[in-house]
Amino acid sequence: MAERLEEQLEELMMLQRVDQELNSTLNLESVMMLTIDWAMRRTGAAAGMVCISTQDNAGLIPLVTLGYDPDRMIYTAENPFPLTLGVTGRCGRTRKLQVVQDITTDPDYFTTVDNMRWMIAAPIEMRGRLLGVISLEGDQDGELNDANVKFVKRLASRSAIALENARLYQETERRANEMSALYAASRIISSSIERIDVIKNSSQAVADVLSVSSTIFGEYREDLNRLTMVASTKFIPSSHAPDLLPAANELLELNAIPELANSIKQNRILALSINDPNLSEGIQQFMDDHFLKSMLLLPLAVQDQKLGLLMAVDGRRERRFMRDEILLAESLASQIAAAMRQAKLYEDVRELESLKSEMIRMASHDLRNPLGNVMGYLELLVSEISYTFDQNHQDYVKQMRTSLNTIKSLIEDLLTLDKIESERQESFTRINLSTLLDDVFMSQQFQAIRNNQTMNLAKPIEAIYVQASSTQLRQALVNLINNAIKYTPENGLIQVRLTFDDNRVRFEVQDTGYGISKEKQSRLFSRFYRAREQHTEHIMGTGLGLSLVKTVVERHGGEVWVKSALGKGSTFGFWLPAKRD
Ligand code: ADP
Repeated sequence: MAERLEEQLEELMMLQRVDQELNSTLNLESVMMLTIDWAMRRTGAAAGMVCISTQDNAGLIPLVTLGYDPDRMIYTAENPFPLTLGVTGRCGRTRKLQVVQDITTDPDYFTTVDNMRWMIAAPIEMRGRLLGVISLEGDQDGELNDANVKFVKRLASRSAIALENARLYQETERRANEMSALYAASRIISSSIERIDVIKNSSQAVADVLSVSSTIFGEYREDLNRLTMVASTKFIPSSHAPDLLPAANELLELNAIPELANSIKQNRILALSINDPNLSEGIQQFMDDHFLKSMLLLPLAVQDQKLGLLMAVDGRRERRFMRDEILLAESLASQIAAAMRQAKLYEDVRELESLKSEMIRMASHDLRNPLGNVMGYLELLVSEISYTFDQNHQDYVKQMRTSLNTIKSLIEDLLTLDKIESERQESFTRINLSTLLDDVFMSQQFQAIRNNQTMNLAKPIEAIYVQASSTQLRQALVNLINNAIKYTPENGLIQVRLTFDDNRVRFEVQDTGYGISKEKQSRLFSRFYRAREQHTEHIMGTGLGLSLVKTVVERHGGEVWVKSALGKGSTFGFWLPAKRD
């Protein structure tokens, strides 16, 4: 009696320790190592292991093993222990405790260690889910007594909580890793708007997340049911992966390869493996030709628009793509499709923009000569017959001259803008902005005097250098000073200022003119925009001057700005990077 009590007490203490240890660590392996160690010590078993269930519950992965011959214990995460095998498999399959007093009588027993007599396998379960199996084998008869069986059973149920905790912890960690991989991939995908970069970055992101050896990017033509290869990339040295990728511009007729066609048309991710007996002849041929063993097809679609197919392929081995990997790939595919569409829109806009510039340039060139003709002949006509003109005729001529001059300055502004855009930055030289400004100021002063305006200039005595095109900067200065004169009534004050510090040169023109209302200020620097205010409507202009200033300043690495209040005046200015030496 006393002996039994002592035994029970010892068992209770052991279980208490087991509980303590199990609940204090989240490392799955050390938890299970402790479990198996206690179980073996208590039962006298010669070998033991804890297996955990695979995600799909179809097999068992040995997590810790003690006392087995490593050559015989061939099962791993990639090659799980099947539930059809041995007493352990039977335990997992039936989820019932297996107690085998004499292994020679058990037809399922499977030898992994010699000379054993007995075996016990207990399921580890939690909320109806099989988490794993503890199994023990011993070589001494009589060890598998009732007390030991009970102990193993209790141990299994206690370790379930620890196993579940550790599993959840691992799951959380895995999800966090997945999220960060997805985040990194998203950043890569959206880091550029150029089509070619989007393709390159997307391929990289997919290869990173799915760990495949290569990617193949194809663009889809729905009318032809055809895929045009636009990029194939191998991410592993050729010596490690036999993949032979299709060349850019190669065409794939999808009628012959139903898997690719279906993936695109049904917008469905598809995983293919070379030994799958259901593969069509077409895809089999494709995989053989390119030495591919597995493929994951990611259709790229935005709303109803089918853009293409990104194939994540591997020539090294057949592999199963896990559910989680497919979900990740799905999320990447939709991001890639969105990025591709954006890149396409960007390309379209750029093409239109350049078409527009080209048209403007051609039109301006073509208009210049006939306009010159008209102006020349008008003056000739006037000089020959003006003696016959009455007041009305003279007014007509005045109107014609004004209109012709407006067209002329419009054409000139357009051509200047075009010239600026095509001038190369490499031809910029170091110029002294201070002397350039003196020049411009002098040339504009006459106009201000004519308008009875006061115009003054404040600037440091030292030379102020910038790296620039002097014709472009001159044009920018002229435009800003000229606008101040144009949009300021008689007797107004115009102050021109140039300042600098270590990094920047600042230029500004402040006037006491008509000013511009708040809501119109944001558009001032757009091409052809004219802010029509009550007092400025009669003033001639093309709406190109400020856009020209902005283009020039930005090409020089600076920024323009405006501050203005209607009826009070405006300050227009810009800064440029200073050139120190
Ligand atoms: P333009 O003077 O040929 O119309 P700009 O591009 O130089 O073209 O200027 C765009 C518009 O900005 C002008 O039509 C005018 O309404 C407004 N603006 C520019 N400078 C001033 C200024 N100093 N004061 C008030 N309005 C200005």
